[in-house]
Amino acid sequence: MADYYEILGVEKDATKEEIKVAFRKKARVLHPDVNKAPDAEDRFKELGKAYETLMDDNKRATYDRYGEEGLNQAGFSQGPFENGFGDLNDIFESFFGGFGFGGGRRVDPNAPQRGENLRLDIGIEFEEAVFGLEKEIKIEHLEHCHTCNGTGAKAGTEPTVCPTCGGRGQVQQMQRTILGSISQIVTCPKCHGKGKVISDPCPDCKGDGRVSVEKKLTIKIPQGVDNGSKMRLSNEGDAGVNGGPAGDLYIVIHVKPSDYYHREDMTIITECAVTPAQAALGDTIVIKTVDGDREISIPQGVQNGDKVKIKGAGVPSIANPSMRGDHIVIVNVKTPTKLSKDEKALYEKLYQLETGKKYEKKTVKEKIKAAFK
Ligand SMILES: [Zn+2]
Ligand SMILES: [Zn+2]
Repeated sequence: MADYYEILGVEKDATKEEIKVAFRKKARVLHPDVNKAPDAEDRFKELGKAYETLMDDNKRATYDRYGEEGLNQAGFSQGPFENGFGDLNDIFESFFGGFGFGGGRRVDPNAPQRGENLRLDIGIEFEEAVFGLEKEIKIEHLEHCHTCNGTGAKAGTEPTVCPTCGGRGQVQQMQRTILGSISQIVTCPKCHGKGKVISDPCPDCKGDGRVSVEKKLTIKIPQGVDNGSKMRLSNEGDAGVNGGPAGDLYIVIHVKPSDYYHREDMTIITECAVTPAQAALGDTIVIKTVDGDREISIPQGVQNGDKVKIKGAGVPSIANPSMRGDHIVIVNVKTPTKLSKDEKALYEKLYQLETGKKYEKKTVKEKIKAAFK
């Protein structure tokens, strides 16, 4: 029969703290990754079993009264190794710098954790995206609670050791399965693994240690942003916990579509309409650009769909504001649908010049009818 006190090298009335210290001391020497002696692994397992038993009040009481045999009969598990290493892993990671072995690593709820990143979607106009703007935004994020200094406990009180797990953050749980009862080490349901509970919560943060704060920020949206562009504001996300850093705030920009302007990267595209006469003769017309009205030349003989470029009137580069894209004007030659009397006379003359025949306002049907008269 193994004597757990002897294995750990502690007195029968040793406190948990003494057991923990003794275990760590011995585990350092016996850990199979360190100790290559053939019996090291067995001895290490024995040590783990002794430690686990004596750290658990129920198990220790059973062991003290009935010995190892009593533990087996009471249905207690055979040490942490049957449970995928449980908290042995955590202890090792804490003093060996984490050469994890066995099952998955448990996230320590007391370790510093970075706050959540947040996202804010904002809509801006087409021209605002081109030239950038300063905008006041309102955000809501979690900030460190200054009333309790993040502890979550009411002023003058402190979190206390969790009565359910005795501060270990984990409890032994029996689960009935068709194969019999299985013992598992699970995160303490009362303290969620923290080992501490707040009996008198801070009234401001309700025990969370963080409070929701509405904040106004003035942000500078740079020139040249596009639909879907993201900006990151460092540390404007939620505050971290256990002293961890705050998360970031991501601003996602939505550029409202314009009826007039279209955009492809740094190029602005618009359309203009010209008459057949303007197209045939060429013209100078005024185009609205993001810089204001600009005169452009429509070349003589322009075809429907031809493009006229206004150099440098496009979108500035985000990285280099002095670099700008172009503004492309797509020319639509529009056939007039209504003609004045004078226009009609001129078009008929033009028709005769172009086709070499006299204009007759007759449909095919009318022509056939006339031929059979
Ligand atoms: Zn608080
Ligand atoms: Zn607990």
